[in-house]
Amino acid sequence: MPRPSAVSSAGLPSVRISRRGVSRLQDGHVWVYRSDVSANSVPPGALVSVADERGKPLGTALYSSSSQIAIRMISRDAVGDLGALLRERIQAAIAYRERVVENTDAYRVVFSEADLLPGLIVDRYNDLLSLQVLTQAMDAEPVRQTVVSKLDEALHPEAIAERVEPRVRELEQLPPRASGLIRGEKSHTIFSMNGVKFHYDALQGQKTGAFLDQRENYAAAAQYARGEALDVFCYQGGFALHLAPHCSKVTGVDSSRPALEVAEQNAALNGREIEWIEGNAFDLLKDYAAAGRQYDTIVLDPPAFAKSKRTLETALRGYKELNLRALKMLRPGGILVTCSCSYHVSLVDFLAVLASAASDAHRNARILEVRGQARDHPVLLNVPETGYLKAVVSNVSY
Ligand code: SAH
Repeated sequence: MPRPSAVSSAGLPSVRISRRGVSRLQDGHVWVYRSDVSANSVPPGALVSVADERGKPLGTALYSSSSQIAIRMISRDAVGDLGALLRERIQAAIAYRERVVENTDAYRVVFSEADLLPGLIVDRYNDLLSLQVLTQAMDAEPVRQTVVSKLDEALHPEAIAERVEPRVRELEQLPPRASGLIRGEKSHTIFSMNGVKFHYDALQGQKTGAFLDQRENYAAAAQYARGEALDVFCYQGGFALHLAPHCSKVTGVDSSRPALEVAEQNAALNGREIEWIEGNAFDLLKDYAAAGRQYDTIVLDPPAFAKSKRTLETALRGYKELNLRALKMLRPGGILVTCSCSYHVSLVDFLAVLASAASDAHRNARILEVRGQARDHPVLLNVPETGYLKAVVSNVSY
């Protein structure tokens, strides 16, 4: 590769990318891997101008000195003022949610690459915002200040919390940082989705607190739910609470006691009686099936089993086992709502697993809906990594 020139015409450090990197960008992706990037003494997290091997400009990107994803494109053009661009993108992200989000005061405001703001996630829970920074560039102090002041000005939250993933900071070689409030003092609120109320504590819980990506699937599941229902991997009761008004009995299962404690508080908040069981879902389903328990509605929403391509086979076996047991425990005419949030398990793989589980269970499963993540978690067509959630609703007969 030719030596990169140190500074571009826009005054930014410049990087050059190989033919393979160029072809990724031409395909519409926004990431270029380290092996395709030549960057000489570019500071961590810098805004860089990107060129091909011959020096032809390809746009502007955020650079990471440590991640395998060295380049995340932010524009096809030269960028003079990063602050102005970030403000504009956040405004566009907010405007998009105003169009597509309904019946809730909790939703994802900014979804990283899918909002052309790679490395930034912002969730809203009523009057609180929760922010996650995933890259060196988004961690830079001036960038943080721009993001926080724009969010303050556009959404007027009571408080903004930052949720830190220590593993991500390690990978990005960023100094450790504690989760906590970065604006305001309020850390607890109550939010609602589809008329169901939830407690939210900005300083506790998994992800940014709730699984907002399932919001539209909760409403869909509620439409079909009836009879006795089992919500497996229920966390703080997202599905269970939505099923309760339509079912004679709802049981939620999770291995996390703290999650179930919040689930119980959520049930009380909505005046619902739900049975919560702490346990390992695999063991519990096995025991319940052996005991001949039957249900009319079952939801399966396990954590991502395939964290990487390498674990795909094991993950598929896990999905198969769960779905097989659930299918066997459904009464004729029962409803199965089954999810996978593993990016590495494609919809095609997932449907194949379900088909094989149905045939082993000697059941017919009619697909009522094939769904994905809620629209506040948009999928960028040319960045397949932005799409990860699959939710299949089916009607099961013998
Ligand atoms: N359905 C939930 C989200 C589920 S996230 C919602 O809509 O809010 C996955 C959940 O699985 C987590 O709450 C985690 O505690 C739980 N979990 C992980 N492994 C488990 C296991 N082996 N058995 C039971 N629960 C498990």
